[in-house]
Amino acid sequence: MLKVPRKSLILLVSSELACLENADFSAYRAPGLAETASLAFEIMPWRWKAKEFDNAANELASPFKSPPELVSLPGRTGVLDLAGYYPSGNATVIEGATHMKLQRPVSWPNGAKVACAISLDMDADSLVHIHHGDRAGDKLSAMSMLRYGPQVAIPRILETYRKFGLKQSFFIPAWCMENHAAAVDAIVRDGHEVGYHGYIHEAPNSLSPQQEMDWMCKSIEIIERHTGKRPRGNRSPLYHMSAKTPELLAELGFLYDSSLMGDDVPYYLDTPSGRLLELPVSWATDDWPPYVHAPDLGYMFPPKPPDAAMDIFLAEFEALRQSPGGVWIGVWHPFVSGRLSRWQRVERMIEFMLNTGDVWFASLEEITSHVNEETTSGRYRPRVDPLPYTTGNQIPEELVGKA
Ligand SMILES: [Zn+2]
Repeated sequence: MLKVPRKSLILLVSSELACLENADFSAYRAPGLAETASLAFEIMPWRWKAKEFDNAANELASPFKSPPELVSLPGRTGVLDLAGYYPSGNATVIEGATHMKLQRPVSWPNGAKVACAISLDMDADSLVHIHHGDRAGDKLSAMSMLRYGPQVAIPRILETYRKFGLKQSFFIPAWCMENHAAAVDAIVRDGHEVGYHGYIHEAPNSLSPQQEMDWMCKSIEIIERHTGKRPRGNRSPLYHMSAKTPELLAELGFLYDSSLMGDDVPYYLDTPSGRLLELPVSWATDDWPPYVHAPDLGYMFPPKPPDAAMDIFLAEFEALRQSPGGVWIGVWHPFVSGRLSRWQRVERMIEFMLNTGDVWFASLEEITSHVNEETTSGRYRPRVDPLPYTTGNQIPEELVGKA
């Protein structure tokens, strides 16, 4: 019989309800304990609709006065049987776990706990050109790896989105739009959002403010020509935003940026040219570190199996479900996450997320509109960061070079 130890928070992991039905919860029946103890369950959530799961959990938690806490384990999802990971009847005790609240949770539509967006940066072969200039043509293998994005991955990705009824966001360098117009047409035809991602994946913080402005203007023109719409959002290539980028974006009518990492919830950037919403990202939900092995581009990460990558992405998702009101943004690339085994795993991830009943899947533009409305109506009091964060050299002379 499974013996449940006396702890403040217990996570029971099981692939079979039966093992929980036979569990001995007597340690929890001590006087006063129900006030301090809570119980958490994880029982193959993707096979349960949310309501069925609630009913079962309530029944199992009947010895307790407090309602059961539903907790999921990141990554142990999809069609894999949990028993493969956790032998039936295994119990894991999490010491010191607390109920953390976000400082400024957003109320998402339909009571969703998490706003979710998979944003795809379709870099294609712009990366070979920006890295190798006139030698790019001799990097045929790297080029083929990158062109897999628009040619093979995009149709696959769009099919998945149609299947689940999702409208999502794509960030595409303007040069790629001109060189892979068919992929862009297909994205636009399906009603997805297209945002700005540099002209040819140049780093904005390597340009002068004037150069940055000029290439931004030229790119906006190209984006408008291919999509029929002015871009509303920015993702700086490799997150290489300059001190000037937010101001230029605000000046040119952009509504949001999604390149910074300063919060779990959206926040505003106040620039001399106006206000911009920041939809924060994280390296933990970026597909570059777990997958990208590209010697010609200078990246040598040993590729991880899709389940291992998903452990990282879903850990963020599960944390946000437990502390509602935040935003989960995948920063992925068609040539990376659109490879067959990885995208099969993504489909199962989307299915799992939708089945939790806790998510609002939306494009970044839709998330921006919602946060702006909540803010304008006074229902939401956002964090506002005045920019720039610092000006001038902050290093005292005698500390120069002491990193
Ligand atoms: Zn990129």
